[in-house]
Amino acid sequence: MWLSSRARAAAWLLISMFIMEVQGSYIKYNTTGGIVDGKLNVHLVPHTHDDVGWLKTVDQYYVGSNFSIQGACVRNILDSVVVALLKDPSRKFVYAEQAFFQRWWVEQCVEVQEVVKQLVDSGQLEFINGGWCMHDEAATHYIDMIDQTTLGHRMIKKQFNKTPRIGWQIDPFGHSGVQGYLLGAEGCYRGSLVDFTPYPRVEHIFAGAFPGHYGPPNGFYFDVSGSDSPVQDDTLLYDYNVNGRVNDFIDAAMAQANVTQTNHIMWTMGDDFQYQYAESWFREMDKLINYVNKFIFPLLVIHRWPPDFSQQQAAQPS
Ligand SMILES: [Zn+2]
Repeated sequence: MWLSSRARAAAWLLISMFIMEVQGSYIKYNTTGGIVDGKLNVHLVPHTHDDVGWLKTVDQYYVGSNFSIQGACVRNILDSVVVALLKDPSRKFVYAEQAFFQRWWVEQCVEVQEVVKQLVDSGQLEFINGGWCMHDEAATHYIDMIDQTTLGHRMIKKQFNKTPRIGWQIDPFGHSGVQGYLLGAEGCYRGSLVDFTPYPRVEHIFAGAFPGHYGPPNGFYFDVSGSDSPVQDDTLLYDYNVNGRVNDFIDAAMAQANVTQTNHIMWTMGDDFQYQYAESWFREMDKLINYVNKFIFPLLVIHRWPPDFSQQQAAQPS
């Protein structure tokens, strides 16, 4: 009897393990979507906004000290993003502030620098704005705007032979005409200005006003410190929620589409000092792209760059 019970328990354990292995096994997510005309195209833009000195000093933000003031460490962000990008060539990321990137770059060994060069060449990592910082537009003299932007661009040119294609002024608390001129000036960016504040329309510059902050829609904040629900797609575990999360996605996308004149909307997937554990963001975006594209054909999710986004916007009346 004892043997029989034990045998039954062992058999059940074996079956359970088999089921778990099947249900909880590796899932290859399809993240290779592209723009589809006639559908609502949702462009996910993974980014981090790293103030070059705010609640902490630039040094404290870089090394991650004084966590009691703000849990921010830019060194962790850049380390983490590189690892996450290497996991999947369809993953992409934009980075702006050269004050941090250059500090990190000189600390890397030749092998890591080579890997990062490849990520930049392939377009997985792209520098946007590319200035030393994302300057304020109200109190800053235009000479200083030009100088600090030139400094960052020169370094990017020297190290990667690239020139940033896109402006990215997402947190200046209002825009100036000078900034508009600089963004539109020949030899500067050919791209777009992106911000959550309204901007006077200037020729050749795409101006967008986000419904809220420069973060994702409510419920899609996937930082390691965040509390929004991850996409739970293991049917053996409690809180399986793929259908619910896909529906949440549709609701958020439709809400934004209803205040957008074109069929291209952008989700800024990041916020202040995000991606210190980049995988937490990328993993959830991979799942969303996979499941939304798989189940909801009126919608499409894409990992795309702002340049693609602005080109689509520019091609349509707004
Ligand atoms: Zn800021």
